[in-house]
This record gives sequence, structure tokens and C-alpha cells, in this order.
Amino acid sequence: MPWPLTGARVFLPDEGLERPAPAGAGYEVPWLLLSLTCSRTIVEMVAILWSQPTMPGIDFQQLRAEISVAEVLELLGFIATNGSGDQRYGPCPLNPTTAKQRDRRFSVNLRSGRFFCRECGRFGDQLDLWAAASKQPLYDAAVALCNRLHREPPWIQHW
Ligand SMILES: [Zn+2]
Repeated sequence: MPWPLTGARVFLPDEGLERPAPAGAGYEVPWLLLSLTCSRTIVEMVAILWSQPTMPGIDFQQLRAEISVAEVLELLGFIATNGSGDQRYGPCPLNPTTAKQRDRRFSVNLRSGRFFCRECGRFGDQLDLWAAASKQPLYDAAVALCNRLHREPPWIQHW
């Protein structure tokens, strides 16, 4: 019987938001019990555990430190129409169909990595921007972003 974790919510202090637990979270232990009760050999058990599609954690804070909002903006083809200091304005990469040539409704701070769009109302940091643009959950977006930039995601090592 699977662990009753479907629909469970996890609190990520880094995010400051409640997010749904990733699919499959909490299923590793029942798999181990199943392996044990099937009286498999140790070698078989190890092979099964290694082959399980576990989701290794990503250090999102580290990822944000490594990948700048400027890199994400470049991937999205953003061209600023205005700006001063670290602040840039331009057409929103998230709603390009309504963006005009000299649009200033999307603003982004290159130092903090925070963005805000006065048209679609979306805001967040560089990872939120990539997730919204690529229409993926944060975890998948983080992995995809690292792949695009040919970098190893900052996995959280559990042992
Ligand atoms: Zn927008």
C-alpha cells in the first residue's frame, strides 16, 4: 500500500511558499519494505534501490547564486528598451504577443534577480521567470535550465 502522501504539501523555507509534494515522494520506504518481504538477496535489493526513480533534491539557493537573471533573460530573447543602474525595462518575455516595441511594463533588477510585470502581474526571481516561460514546475524548470546552460544542477547530497 503506498504511503498516504498523495496531495501532501511540503513547506520549503527557501521558497516561502507551500508547494505540492513532488509526485512519488515518500515511496522509497515502501519499496524497500517490499524488497525485504520478497526475500531477495542483498545484491538484488541494492540493484532495485539504485534503479528507483528517486528525485534528488536541488539546492535552489545555490542555483540562484550560480545562474543570473541576465542569463535567463538572454535565453528568453529579452531586449531591454530602457533602464538605469541595475534596473531594466522592456517587453515582457512571458506575454510577448501583447508586447509593444517600446514596452516598459516588464521590469527586472539585474542584481537581485527579481522581476515584475505590470501587464500579466507575474513576479519572482530568475528561476520563477524561467519556470513561467517554459511552463514547467520549479523542479523541472531548474533541471532544464541547467541543461540549457550546460551546467550540473546543484544536487543536494544526502550522504
Ligand atoms: Zn508579463
